[in-house]
Amino acid sequence: MLKNDMLEQWDRENFFHPSTHLAEFARGNVPQRIITGGTNCHIEDRDGNKLLDAFAGLYCVNVGYGRQDIAEAIAVQAKELAYYHSYVGHGTEASITLAKMIMNRAPAHMSKVYFGMSGSDANETNIKLVWYYNNILGRPEKKKIISRWRGYHGSGLMTGSLTGLELFHNKFDLPLSQVVHTEAPYYFRRPDLAMSEADFVAHCVAKLEELIEEQGADTIAAFIGEPVLGTGGIVPPPAGYWDAIQKVLEKNDILLIADEVVTGFGRLGTMFGSEHYGLKPDLITIAKGLTSAYAPLSGSIVSEKMWKVLEQGTDENGPIGHGWTYSAHPVGAAAGVANLKLIDELNLVQNAGEIGAYLNKVMAEAVGSHAHVGDVRGEGMLCAVEFVKDRDSRTFFDGADKVGPQLSAALLEQGVIARAMPQGDILGFAPPFCLTREEADEVADKTAIAVKKVL
Ligand code: PLP
Repeated sequence: MLKNDMLEQWDRENFFHPSTHLAEFARGNVPQRIITGGTNCHIEDRDGNKLLDAFAGLYCVNVGYGRQDIAEAIAVQAKELAYYHSYVGHGTEASITLAKMIMNRAPAHMSKVYFGMSGSDANETNIKLVWYYNNILGRPEKKKIISRWRGYHGSGLMTGSLTGLELFHNKFDLPLSQVVHTEAPYYFRRPDLAMSEADFVAHCVAKLEELIEEQGADTIAAFIGEPVLGTGGIVPPPAGYWDAIQKVLEKNDILLIADEVVTGFGRLGTMFGSEHYGLKPDLITIAKGLTSAYAPLSGSIVSEKMWKVLEQGTDENGPIGHGWTYSAHPVGAAAGVANLKLIDELNLVQNAGEIGAYLNKVMAEAVGSHAHVGDVRGEGMLCAVEFVKDRDSRTFFDGADKVGPQLSAALLEQGVIARAMPQGDILGFAPPFCLTREEADEVADKTAIAVKKVL
């Protein structure tokens, strides 16, 4: 790899980085890191640092870095046919094979997959399909979407609105009026410490019912949720939450969109989070783990119940007026086929479950008793440590005294990447599924060192 001494300067002068403090970046206060390579759970930067990536990029490089099988499949596809569209019945061997592989793995009541490029556009597709569905069923007023505070569903106009994090609304005039938010299933931050998990589930259900009552069930089309809240803090739901929520949705004829961008294809130790929590969604959003981010590709998996209505809609109105140039991009599809094969061959779903449980255990042992650790939680290959000012009164480091960024910096100094989650003082871990026990130990031990140093 050529060393280019101008790269940092070109970067500052030309590159508009996402999710970045632009002014601090321009002032040189945001460290620039130019990544040059990676193998399994490690990446390398051009200064020669080798880092254990305990967040798998943005919880997406699920099979790990440097997988030659996927790179080869991409190269072969690009050489044979880099592109053809999928409009009006066109396809490629890769896109058709991938659709079949996804449907073989999806819950049995699902019917078809619509391809996009990112989790955000897949969720935009989902909302359009929900609206189309209700228009075809002759109930045009049933359009609002319920999302949860702390949910993350993307950065588009609609998906940014669905996202329940202030940072993504601020100064963008979001959320749009068709979106309403309800309580996050965040037991650690329950409103009353005396509440049991069962009490808290009842509280979340009551809040949802109140919202439906206030808005009117005949105005609400769908509820969207991640099986485990991700960007909002890596928060597994309390026991019984999804069963109770699904009952309310069924009663009010509200569709369920399971946003499985993070949980799809194995992160919880099951192929889908829907399987893990007994969800029966009408739509499933997939992205990240579909290709392990070797190429951008996403999808909306549609249930048989919705599919029948979509077909009826095209009989009545002509072809569906929704398409992306890069839907089912052949190179992305080839990456997806090779990725799903590799997940099976290396038994990575099982590994995510087993090593994920081990990581959660050793993390709890390493930091769980520290005076400023309020909660260590996780599910499968997802783990979070939440920090508090005071354990007994459960006061938080909110606002200016946030310690998350300092803690992730202290881990980085030791060669481990964890993510300071955007809200609260939470360190998030979502390693590739090929993490070993030794690497899990290293992540936990170095987290304990970071915690000791900063707090
Ligand atoms: N949904 C969830 C649950 C996500 O975590 C993300 C991204 O992190 C998205 C949607 C948006 O995906 P993308 O960034 O590919 O648009």
